[in-house]
Amino acid sequence: MSGFEDSAQPTLATPDGFRWDDGIASLDSMPELPEVETTRRGVEPHVVGRRIVALAVHEPRLRWRVPSSLPAQVAGQRIRVAGRRAKYLLIELESGTLLLHLGMSGSLRVLPAQTPRVAHDHFDVLLDSGNTLRFNDPRRFGSLHYTTDTVDKHPLLARLAPEPFDATFNTDYLWRVTRRRRVAIKQLIMNSTLVVGVGNIYASEALFRARVRPRRQASSLSRAEVARLVRGIRTVLAMAIRTGGTTLRDYVGVDGNPGYFRQKLYVYERAGKPFRKCGTTIRQFAQGQRSTYYCPSCQQ
Ligand SMILES: [Zn+2]
Repeated sequence: MSGFEDSAQPTLATPDGFRWDDGIASLDSMPELPEVETTRRGVEPHVVGRRIVALAVHEPRLRWRVPSSLPAQVAGQRIRVAGRRAKYLLIELESGTLLLHLGMSGSLRVLPAQTPRVAHDHFDVLLDSGNTLRFNDPRRFGSLHYTTDTVDKHPLLARLAPEPFDATFNTDYLWRVTRRRRVAIKQLIMNSTLVVGVGNIYASEALFRARVRPRRQASSLSRAEVARLVRGIRTVLAMAIRTGGTTLRDYVGVDGNPGYFRQKLYVYERAGKPFRKCGTTIRQFAQGQRSTYYCPSCQQ
């Protein structure tokens, strides 16, 4: 993280230079939970304890329109916490909380406030440090909300399922929710009303680690398979967070190095290639308009 403070270079994930996949895989390019957590960790030391000098909204037409009253509500407040719930960054202020979603192509950077804006820079949170927290989002699926109520009660958060790292997301829980469901297990773990943050890439990888085929009916999993799947989900997400996320093409982490997790993926986007451990050719099929990858030997 050296040079973070005094450099005018973008220091968090840049939207420039990553490619969108064609066709059905395009949805996979959205930032997933590990990228959002990586962003949170990158931003945290630069915003916590700082006072917001101003919020400058250059383009209010995001996924939901940014209310024109918002800048006056947050100006002058000190930032207490940089948190996260699912894929929402929660910037806790003295009198309320900002809810920020990166959408499908959004990124945050901490920059010197005078850094010239570029295309798709939609708002600046100007800080008393002389820096700005700048939001860039070419597709404008991101969002910014503010609430003075308990943040968990906000309509966007109130009905969210447990986080994968919550104690409540455990073998008992996944066992219970899989029992009467005939849906494919991969669809189930990607259902954010049951568990948040398991996107397409991590679902394939977690199922590989659990040695469970993606199309298996959820209710057919044994208790041991459910336990392996809970561990698999936590392991792949933890690895991805440790290495700075993976879903953005040519993703650049806080330290300026590319994300490394892609090299460690076992099955994702490896269709037609022999699996690294067993030599079997990885198979791919479309499942719910997403690409799914699995090893027919290792996964039952
Ligand atoms: Zn295999």
